[in-house]
Amino acid sequence: MSNDEIIVGIDLGTTFSLVAYVDAAGPHIIRDENGDGRVPSVIGVTPGANGAPPQVTIGWTARAHAIENARATVYSVKRLIGKGLEDIRRDLPYLSYAVSAGPRDTVQIEIDGRRYTPEEISALILRALKERAERHLGRPVEKAVITVPAYFDDAQRQATRDAGRAAGLEVVRIVNEPTAAALAYGIGLHRPPPRARAAASPPGHTPLPIPSCPTADAGGVAAHAGQTVAVYDLGGGTFDISILRLEDGVFQVLSTAGDTHLGGDDFDRAIINLVTEEVHAQYGVSITAPATKQALRTLAEAVKIRLSEQTQAEIELDLGRDRVYRRTITRAEFEHRIAPLVEQTLTLCGQVLRDAQLTPADLEQAILVGGSTRMPLVRQRIAEFFGRPPYTALNPDEVVALGAAIQASILSGKQADMLLLDVTPLSLGIETMGGAMGKLIVRNTTIPCRATEKFTTFVDGQTAIKINVLQGERELAADCRSLGEFVLDGLPPMAAGMPKVEVEFLLDANGILNVSAKELRSGQQAGIQIIPSHGLTRAEVDRIARESIQFAQRDIDAHRRIDLRNQVEFDTHKTEQMLARVGHLLAPEERARIEQDIAALRKLAQETSDLDELHRALTAFGHGTLHLAEIGIREALVKGDKEE
Ligand code: ADP
Ligand code: MG
Repeated sequence: MSNDEIIVGIDLGTTFSLVAYVDAAGPHIIRDENGDGRVPSVIGVTPGANGAPPQVTIGWTARAHAIENARATVYSVKRLIGKGLEDIRRDLPYLSYAVSAGPRDTVQIEIDGRRYTPEEISALILRALKERAERHLGRPVEKAVITVPAYFDDAQRQATRDAGRAAGLEVVRIVNEPTAAALAYGIGLHRPPPRARAAASPPGHTPLPIPSCPTADAGGVAAHAGQTVAVYDLGGGTFDISILRLEDGVFQVLSTAGDTHLGGDDFDRAIINLVTEEVHAQYGVSITAPATKQALRTLAEAVKIRLSEQTQAEIELDLGRDRVYRRTITRAEFEHRIAPLVEQTLTLCGQVLRDAQLTPADLEQAILVGGSTRMPLVRQRIAEFFGRPPYTALNPDEVVALGAAIQASILSGKQADMLLLDVTPLSLGIETMGGAMGKLIVRNTTIPCRATEKFTTFVDGQTAIKINVLQGERELAADCRSLGEFVLDGLPPMAAGMPKVEVEFLLDANGILNVSAKELRSGQQAGIQIIPSHGLTRAEVDRIARESIQFAQRDIDAHRRIDLRNQVEFDTHKTEQMLARVGHLLAPEERARIEQDIAALRKLAQETSDLDELHRALTAFGHGTLHLAEIGIREALVKGDKEE
């Protein structure tokens, strides 16, 4: 295949579909003008006026009219593709459109007397994705990799291929969704052989032992041979759990399980049922009008999503005739209602592990896929079940499409361009006081690796600390790339310098970075998971490395200025506190002189560009406040004596 040929990756989902591609910076989801990559897998048909052919709407528009246009809106067609009427008996009660038997053990969808095959409906969705990709890339797109659930049989896979062809796409490969998810996290991708390990790890950065992951054989082929992962996929209407093992660079599906009627729709329904019951109890009415039903469905999903972010949400539904239903729902209340469903997924996880004759401890990773895995309860229960935090760095509703795009780039021979390294190409660290870059893992450290460092606060009574994770070689945070940030909050108020915050960077064998921050006195902790290599090209890595040399002197000065200013801030603040406490024990002239010194030093720190001068002034300030410090210490001791 020629090297500039584009093959897109498509996640053809039950509720949402996405298209992605790979360029030198890695895989990208192709988004709409609102930044959303998802296209609802929904088709709406409206009869054409005066015998004209029917009008077809696809995606958000079709979804928005799903309830008013119930008989002519096709959703969840993935449940029908490649199946016969007998296979889908269980699904029929959930479908509001007419389904009947088609030729050769297939089904057909009937709208306004016209019959559509599931392939035709899927082709409409695929065509919309193809067109989206063509608009974005500015050229024709003729080839695609399409993902399907691991349990799809040959008929379902063939029907998916046929749908692709009907959409004008050559389907170069059908890939299992869990495999795509693993690829998106870099699992199973060939990496160059590691360099000499000893030389690459600077002191203080302990390379982690890698149990059951040999550090690549002599030829450096499969660096992660034998890796076993679980892929937990909780989408809109279905739940799938798969256990994959990577053998000789190929993923084997060891076992799969799932529930084809368990997903986000059920969590929405929990809210819909709650509202329906309460509306009935309060107003004695049933919600039957299609417009109200649609409004409630949209509302329920929005409330559910809000409860993934916040601990409570408002529900407000206009029932007409001046009746408005209103209530607050807490996350705890919602979780109580859906907990049995979440437990059901874990039962299936237990089953799939038993089928593969494995225990959670045998797994290297658990990967989360599907929009519903954003729910905190789901994440918490999975972490408990698998005994480790799952992979969440990628957007769970985009991960399958990203993996499909990576598979596509491998097939088009472009994978060699991607940044897959056995060392971290750029340093990783956090933003420290005054906007400096505090490096924890320096560039060219062999992965996997781990680094920790302790930090404290500069302000009294600080109850939250923002941790900004940085990548780059420059000394100022502003000149580095921010990979993500999180807040460590809930700290008990303490004097500046008292909190002990331990920040840990853990970069695992797949290049996934876990950053955690823990305040050791209170035990509060928070963290984030990031893929540092995403969005980076080789050319960019080289540029960043060059610039770090070019700007070395300027950067060293800038860092020194920040350090000195921080020190000035800290010393003057401590001196002020000391004055407030024991200033009355000083001669009035001395006290006045120290106050002047504080003001003068702060002014100098803001104004001077001569760092040596600032350094001298800081030292002199220290000498000038020695007497005060002595009195302070003596007083503290005397006080301590009395208290004993
Ligand atoms: P598919 O079933 O097509 O694979 P997705 O993986 O995209 O679908 O999952 C869609 C589901 O994820 C929907 O039910 C949606 O409401 C749900 N979802 C998306 N974001 C969130 C969130 N932040 N919290 C809870 N559920 C979410
Ligand atoms: Mg999915």
